[in-house]
Amino acid sequence: MDHTIVEQIERRRASIIGFLAGLVRAESTNPPGDTRKVADLIAARLRGSSVDFQILSEELRKPNVIARLGSGHPDLLFTSHMDTVPVGNLKAWRHEPFGAEIVGTRMHGRGAADAKASLAGMVAAVEALGTVLPLRGTLTLTAVSDEEVGGVKGTEYLVDRGLLHPDHVVVGEITGNRLATAEKGVLWLRITTHGRAAHGSTPWEGSNAISAMLRVLGAIEARIGGPLGTLAHPLTPPPSLSIGTIRGGVATNVVPDWCEATIDRRTLPNETIPEAVAQMERVIADLQRADPQLQADVEVIQSGPPIETSPQSPIVQAAQAVARELQLPSDPVGYHQASDGRFFAERGIPTILFGPGDPELAHTVNESVDVNEVVTAAKFYALLAFRMLSEQS
Ligand SMILES: [Zn+2]
Repeated sequence: MDHTIVEQIERRRASIIGFLAGLVRAESTNPPGDTRKVADLIAARLRGSSVDFQILSEELRKPNVIARLGSGHPDLLFTSHMDTVPVGNLKAWRHEPFGAEIVGTRMHGRGAADAKASLAGMVAAVEALGTVLPLRGTLTLTAVSDEEVGGVKGTEYLVDRGLLHPDHVVVGEITGNRLATAEKGVLWLRITTHGRAAHGSTPWEGSNAISAMLRVLGAIEARIGGPLGTLAHPLTPPPSLSIGTIRGGVATNVVPDWCEATIDRRTLPNETIPEAVAQMERVIADLQRADPQLQADVEVIQSGPPIETSPQSPIVQAAQAVARELQLPSDPVGYHQASDGRFFAERGIPTILFGPGDPELAHTVNESVDVNEVVTAAKFYALLAFRMLSEQS
């Protein structure tokens, strides 16, 4: 039966590539993140294949397409995003960013890889699976908006509304058709120090908030940033801490009473976000114990938990078997960016990432994808769904 699926996808090769070209031509850069044209194309394709779907949006311009085959559990979710990052420097593009031009085996354009290639592959897999019903459980596909700016109106909206109940999740992202099972967490923090203003000629009458900030940041870099260099994870890049912005003071001759700095902290899959926040709070509490005058506070601007899926989980095992079947590398890798997968991983749902496209080309000018990789990904998704949801399994 699974040979039939592979053959079906192979037969639809031209149609899959043509569909991807249409998706690339339907501009959906974010901001502003209007994905309606992409959603319309996906809806038309699903309708043509008699796959049931609905469109849900919190904001009209940011629709989310949810398609389902079968019913009940297990529920396998395929998810990817319809929005793309902006074009960037237009002059640096060698091909029209929304032309979907094919040169050799590569299709060029913004979103050709990230993540319209994954979407095209996932839609093709759903179409192929639709012909081998009945399935045991549900295959759900979501094509979401808003991913490139945090997912609030996309995946987070669907999850918070209780509209998705997956048991396993496959996120379509640019992994170069490698199985990714880990992703770093993201934590953005704001630190504020408070002082007392005074004339710059009599600074002893005030309390300098910038000087206080220098001490706080120095301690954070020494006590948190330094030791991070000794931590490692086999699948992801190292953890990091980077001071991103600093603001404070109104004039050279005024002792500043306020200073603010923001920090970008990336956590390893085996660190937790609450622990990373607590580390920061401990450093400040220690400084305050030594100097009760010091006024500083920490605030979380935004955070996304890491992903680490057990190699023993059924979705990883099945994905490895399918990768071997397609003669792709089957050992897991880490995903270098942050994905919508975090919304599921934080709820304890086993989540993997897989999709066509070179991760190095993400978000750069001259984005492109090898169309053969897209067809291979479609086979991977279809075989994986078949393995997880076929009656025999
Ligand atoms: Zn992406």
